[in-house]
Formats: sequence, structure tokens, C-alpha cells
Amino acid sequence: MSTPARFLCYNKIMKSYIVGNWKMNFSVGESSVYLHKLSQKLRASRGLTVVVSPSFVALQPLSLQIDRKKLRLAAQAGNPHDFGAYTGAVSYTQLRGIVDYGIIGHSERRQLFHESDKDIRASVAAALRNQITPILCVGETETEHTFGETEDVIRDQLLGGLSEVSTEDISKVIIAYEPIWAISTTTDAHLASPDEIGDVAGFIRHTLKDTYGAATAKEIPLLYGGSVNPSNAGGYLTIPEINGLLVGGASLIADQFIDIIEIAKKVQD
Ligand code: PEP
Repeated sequence: MSTPARFLCYNKIMKSYIVGNWKMNFSVGESSVYLHKLSQKLRASRGLTVVVSPSFVALQPLSLQIDRKKLRLAAQAGNPHDFGAYTGAVSYTQLRGIVDYGIIGHSERRQLFHESDKDIRASVAAALRNQITPILCVGETETEHTFGETEDVIRDQLLGGLSEVSTEDISKVIIAYEPIWAISTTTDAHLASPDEIGDVAGFIRHTLKDTYGAATAKEIPLLYGGSVNPSNAGGYLTIPEINGLLVGGASLIADQFIDIIEIAKKVQD
């Protein structure tokens, strides 16, 4: 994807993020080997934070292996209760000190695990009280997109997920826009265009401004996710409102993830 001229006014003031969501992939051993490879190739960069999100079983051992100057860990989900009779669950309290970030409200959690806005709001609050930065995912389905309901859906998910967050804490939150219709697609026709993403990102920023004020809203990192790969990453990273990428499929291939990180560094420079 080429970079349209109007996108070249990228806001370099804000830190940028590349987040890899590994989903339910890799054994603990494979995760460790991957992390080792990534660590060897990466140089620490002030303006860019690289985050990977392995499955729960790998988080604790990887937290001992990771060089935090180069890389950070995220949980893919978490339970908002601190401790108690919640069989099979892992809480943000238990994740404290192990991860720095938590992906919350991913569309797969909303759709496959029936997480509601109430669950998501509680997770955002739990992450914050455990010093974990929430990466709150919002995004519309293909039907909602087709019927022009995108802004209503995004507003509801955004305000629903953030309603327990104070003005003081909002600067510790990251938002990821992930249109569900553009996730893990193999056809170019289903890729979101920079124009479409720019419009929704502008709407998200505007909604945050209405709630938290212009100065605060400007500082909230806004990521894009949806079939990002080394060929389209540069175009997405130069959308003015976008401060980074959430990468699924391409983050499973170390060389592709490294290429995306290198592209982000070039855009940042
Ligand atoms: C995701 O599921 O968060 C995601 C962005 O996946 P992909 O990059 O494969 O579309």
C-alpha cells in the first residue's frame, strides 16, 4: 500500500507502539525461542515500544527472560476480580509485575467468550489498579459497517469500556481500533483503507475529547489492527491519528514482525 501525500504529516511527538497478539499459538518453548530471536534483532528505541502478547502459560517464564529495555509483555485477557472462586481464570492482580500491558475487549473475547461492556469496563479498572496499561480494543462487525453504524458502535464500546476511568487515569490507557471485518483477511478488498481508518480514528479522538478534554485526548495512543503486514504497515503508520499497530497473524512470523518494527522505526525517525 503506498503512502498518500496527505498522510505525511505524521505526529512524531507521541511514542509509537507495535503490539503482537500471539493469540492461542506457540508452546512455552517456542515462545521463548521467538523472544530470544526478537531480542537479538531489536535495538532499544526511545520513541517505539514493542510489546508481545503470549498465552498465559508462557507469561511468567518469559517475564524472567525479557529485556525490558527492548520489549514488554501483554496479557491477552484477564479476570477483573482480584482473587476467589473463579475456576480457570487469571486475574490482573496475579498478572501484576509479570506484564506491563493488557489487551482488553478484543473482538474474539467479545464474540467467542461473550465478554460484555460491563466485563470489559471492570477489566480496564482492574488493570489500572494493578499498574497494567489497558489496550482497549474497539471495532465494528461487517454488518454494522455496511449499515453505517460504525460510529454508534465505537462510541458505545469506548464509553462503555472507559466509564470507570478517571480523567487522571485516562492517560494510562491505549485504544486499539480493530474493525472486525478487516481482521485476519486474505483479500485486499477486505483491508481497511487509510481513509476509512483515519475517519474512525478522528471520531475516536473526538469522542475522547468530549469526555476528557482536548489536551488529554491528544495524548491517548491510538493503535490500528486488522491484517497488518510488512507491505501495508507503512501506510497505516502514517495516518495522522494513528500511533501504532496491533498485529495478529503477521506477529506469528518473527521475520515479518521484525520488518513491521523496522518500518515503524523509520516512520518515527
Ligand atoms: C487481531 O486479531 O487483533 C488482529 C489484528 O489480527 P490480524 O492482524 O491477523 O488481522
